[in-house]
Amino acid sequence: MVARENSKTRRKLRNNKRVMENDQEEENSGRGGVGKKVAIKTITGGGMKTTILKLVMGANALTYFLIIFFGVVVIFSVFPSSSPASENTTPGNPSGQYFPVVGYKGSIPRLPSGGAFGALRNGGTRYHIGVDLGAPPGTKAVAVKDGSVVYYQENFYGGTDAVLVNHGDYVVDYTEIKVNPPFKIKGATIKGGEEIGTIIKNQNGGGSMLHFEMYKPWTTINLHWYPGQEKPDAILDPTQFLEDLLKSSIKTALYSESIGS
Ligand SMILES: [Zn+2]
Repeated sequence: MVARENSKTRRKLRNNKRVMENDQEEENSGRGGVGKKVAIKTITGGGMKTTILKLVMGANALTYFLIIFFGVVVIFSVFPSSSPASENTTPGNPSGQYFPVVGYKGSIPRLPSGGAFGALRNGGTRYHIGVDLGAPPGTKAVAVKDGSVVYYQENFYGGTDAVLVNHGDYVVDYTEIKVNPPFKIKGATIKGGEEIGTIIKNQNGGGSMLHFEMYKPWTTINLHWYPGQEKPDAILDPTQFLEDLLKSSIKTALYSESIGS
């Protein structure tokens, strides 16, 4: 009886143990399930977080880009003349235009050269508002592009003439040359590359050259600029234009069989 009871107890214990083991397995599997669910939740949550983060960051990046972009646009539209580039930029794309001195061999003078735009003249009493393109007497000066004469002045300086030609988006004063007769008349038309005159030696001494002045389109007479005075609005600095033109212009002018030696 005791032995049977013992065996019964042992069986019960064994069964209980089996139940416990089963419970343990279920709990383990249950934990596994819970763990998986947690993991899925974590991944889903993380994914959502990442997506939201990406959206927020994307929105920020786009916002920053738009702020910077419009900021730059506003700065350039409010202060267009504060940029040195726009200060020196003159109207007109040099491509398809003619360098005004046929066979020009020099470079474009810049300060402190006396031939540069802005150099002082007459003992410092006025600014040089043109650029001197030195060339031997007899060298042909040609129109940079099509235009019409707005002003002609005989004996402008030391026995040389000046002729202002409206080229549409700017006016050029071709001076210290002997102007060819057809272009002494206001309204006369000229083609780009056509010979406007000849470089001659001026009687005031100095070298022979084309003195090249550039103005805004409405200009009808050559102007002056004095120290202490703000630069007259119509006067343009042609330095950069001429440098670009020297590099990219059509080198052979239309009427230039004889090139000054
Ligand atoms: Zn000059």
